[in-house]
Amino acid sequence: AALQPESGFLFYSEEMNQRAKEHLRIESELRHALANNELMLYYQPKVSLRSGRIVGAEALLRWKHPVRGLVSPGVFIPVAEETGLILELGNWVMEEACRQIRVWQDANLLMPPIAVNLSARQFDRGLPARMADVMARHGVQPEQLMLEITESLLVKGADKVIAIMNELVAMGLALALDDFGTGYSSLAYLKKFPISTLKIDRAFVIGLPYEENDCAIARAIVTMAQQLRQEIVAEGVETPEQMSFLRELGCDQLQGYLFSQPVPGADFERMLREGKRL
Ligand code: C2E
Ligand code: CA
Ligand code: CA
Ligand code: CA
Repeated sequence: AALQPESGFLFYSEEMNQRAKEHLRIESELRHALANNELMLYYQPKVSLRSGRIVGAEALLRWKHPVRGLVSPGVFIPVAEETGLILELGNWVMEEACRQIRVWQDANLLMPPIAVNLSARQFDRGLPARMADVMARHGVQPEQLMLEITESLLVKGADKVIAIMNELVAMGLALALDDFGTGYSSLAYLKKFPISTLKIDRAFVIGLPYEENDCAIARAIVTMAQQLRQEIVAEGVETPEQMSFLRELGCDQLQGYLFSQPVPGADFERMLREGKRL
């Protein structure tokens, strides 16, 4: 699948050959990783700009490769999406997130919702049933989870997608729109979808408060989200200046290195216990 020329004739270049080989290697190693417990979830806190408290977290996939060390999802998620392996990876992530939530719940930890990333390929008719099944098996309530989806999904085929989203929302699951501002969504378009949270992409946070364009975009997104009564999360917040600007705009939550990098579960648990604040 890595080599599918649109023109119908095969066009090999050395570079494409290398890329295909690299993909094949990652795919087979990823299968091995799934079977051999090389995958982990890290957790990155989301903090309230009003209270300074941890009000959520995002679960982010990590691959501890025996030879190559920690491999970034930026490298293997695109390959997994291309090969379809993302379905198995996605199931593993959901399973692991629910397992961990249950462990924390049994330890009487006050848990904010944990958000899990969903690839567009996971978003099919069977998704609500798969979600119900994994939550039931681990005894996890829908309020303890959140699903992050991307704009590419909204363009995929609106009616079918809206029906599945409505089913998930009816089950009690909240949906967040990830990487907002990088795709094609407009106000009119967005209000058709049952989305409770918008995440402003890091690309627009980087330039705050010095880049005029980024400030204008961030302001427009926050204003729009407020009109739609959606929570708004800024991702990739690294500096106190970015934080102040976002707070003045009326942004609800921030997520970024300023507060914490994504960390292993044990470290996130410690932050919760110690009541770490902004
Ligand atoms: P994303 O969903 O936009 O996740 C946020 C990314 O921004 C994470 O990268 C996080 O580590 C990074 N980040 C957070 N705060 C900061 C900051 O202040 N500065 C900078 N420079 N970066 C920050 P990560 O963990 O490498 O993940 C990359 C992407 O891989 C994610 O982007 C998401 O699209 C995908 N991904 C990760 N885990 C999963 C998963 O379980 N399933 C799916 N389908 N995709 C995943
Ligand atoms: Ca995300
Ligand atoms: Ca994001
Ligand atoms: Ca992003």
